[in-house]
Amino acid sequence: MNLDDTLISALQKHTSAANKAWAAALPLNDRADFVAATKGHIASLPVGGVAAPGGRVAWDIADYDFLDTECPQTANPSLWRMAQLNKISGLFEVAPDVWQARACDYANMSVIKGRTGWILIDPLMARETSAAALKMVNDALGARPVSAVVVTHTHPDHFGGLKGVTGDDADNYPPIYAPVGFMAYAAAEGVLGGNHTSRRATYQFGITLGASATGVIDGGIGKTVAKGRRTFVEPTHYIEHTGQEVLIDGVRFIFQMASGTEAPAEFTFFLPDHKVLCMAEVCTRTMHNILPPRGAQARDALLWARTIDEAIERFADDADVVMNCHNWPVWGREAVVLYLEEQRDIYKYIHDQTLRLANLGHTPDEIAELIVEPDWLSRKFHARGYYGTLAFNARAVYQYYYGFFDGQPVNLDPLSPARLAQHIVDAIGGVEKAIEQAQAAIRQDQLQWAATLLNYLVFADADLPQVRALLVEVYRHQGYRAESGIMRNIYLTGAKELDGGVTALPMAGGRNEDLAATLSLADWFDAYAVRLNPERARDVNLTLNFTVDARTACVWVVRQTEFARVDYACDAADVSVVISLRQLEALAGGKLSVTEAVQGGALITGQRELLDTWLDLHDTFDLWFNIVTP
Ligand SMILES: [Zn+2]
Repeated sequence: MNLDDTLISALQKHTSAANKAWAAALPLNDRADFVAATKGHIASLPVGGVAAPGGRVAWDIADYDFLDTECPQTANPSLWRMAQLNKISGLFEVAPDVWQARACDYANMSVIKGRTGWILIDPLMARETSAAALKMVNDALGARPVSAVVVTHTHPDHFGGLKGVTGDDADNYPPIYAPVGFMAYAAAEGVLGGNHTSRRATYQFGITLGASATGVIDGGIGKTVAKGRRTFVEPTHYIEHTGQEVLIDGVRFIFQMASGTEAPAEFTFFLPDHKVLCMAEVCTRTMHNILPPRGAQARDALLWARTIDEAIERFADDADVVMNCHNWPVWGREAVVLYLEEQRDIYKYIHDQTLRLANLGHTPDEIAELIVEPDWLSRKFHARGYYGTLAFNARAVYQYYYGFFDGQPVNLDPLSPARLAQHIVDAIGGVEKAIEQAQAAIRQDQLQWAATLLNYLVFADADLPQVRALLVEVYRHQGYRAESGIMRNIYLTGAKELDGGVTALPMAGGRNEDLAATLSLADWFDAYAVRLNPERARDVNLTLNFTVDARTACVWVVRQTEFARVDYACDAADVSVVISLRQLEALAGGKLSVTEAVQGGALITGQRELLDTWLDLHDTFDLWFNIVTP
């Protein structure tokens, strides 16, 4: 679809001007971060990248070599600078006996020399990348065994590579330390809402875009997620309280609990003999997300600020360096304190200003418009919005306190997007008039209004090629102007799917089978119940007893609702099933028939056909559902 050339040139002209204004407002010539991000570099991953099964490449930082140029018209110059910094890859000395593998995956793997081997902090997202990072460590520093692994929090970019450093021999796994509550969240957090979050994560991380000057350039806290195999090994030791001191392979660790800030279970730690503070992901070199756009529960910004303050009180006076599980460290005692204070204050500012404006009577969209960037932020790159943004985070704080409803009666039960869109287009006077207004909005550089109008047209019954083509261009230019790497990814993925439709790709690393196998029986049945289709369950009254790997559960389907009670067996079940979780998972996934399950050792008593009836009541979820179209 050819668009009016004057519209395209208007978009280009305005984007160029907007990005020039960004460049003028920030001290982009300050090279201090480049000095810090390259400091202590001693080794690199091999040229050619890290291979994954099936001839795929799990990770190759050379994909981002296009960043070694001036910022093009298709990127925000502030983000471009951050993207150059996050591309600085390899093994770096942080302090004597402390190193970090950076830009070898999305997160960092830190390395501490223990008495007998390496203590590894956060072994990345994929088996292939963590193994490659460990090989780089052994090649550069001399081969040593892995004597312990420390996992700072429940997000998979920090533990999916576990087996790449522990190997597969369960009898010889090293001790693995994690925050208390880790298991309740690591597996379960993503399961109940999993398909929805996974789909939105393809937007947030730009998984279908690929790296280029018109695609993914950065993810704020790193590049993007590695395309390797995700693994898991259950932790052996749990850290329970702030101030807990633990000797790990001869190295003293003092832990601080940070659960409920950036992740539901998380800790930071101080190495008193090394004078190194690790703030996990509580501090990074960017403003983090109070609510990730991929979808999650809103986080507690006030607790986040308080936790950083507690770290300042406890550790900062003795810390020569602070390193984190993303981005690069800060050296020097004064610089460390100032950095921590500023990281604390950005979350406190967002929290307090959102509540001030809410208490003055403003709604979330008003607050997002009214909240102003604090003056100091233009001089402090480490608190800028390369990941989270001020407006998005303000909405998140509102949601944390008040929920999705803003108090306006009109918003008690809004129309669905398609019905609202149809009414709006009719009210404007029809499709042609709405297109004219969208074009005028583009010429006046009112991109959000143009996107809103065009989105109404796509969702009304007016999904014309011309409309899509216009919205594609608007989203692209919103992406080209975004300072946040992940907001850019979301705009550009939306543009791509509007333009070419949704193309299903093999997922970045696929499902983490190791982690799924650690799900509790209650979590497994709760997740399966989410798939119950109420039409098919109408008038169904079923009771099933399960014995799964020696644990029992009774499942009722009645009132179009499915409920499981674990460690319980019902006296009057219609059917009883003795089965392994692996078989049950295969049955639920349609990969195994009931007959095959029985041949494989499952034992079914009672009305066997009712097991099939039960399975048939459930929907299957397709990852690649539509987002930018109805
Ligand atoms: Zn992370």
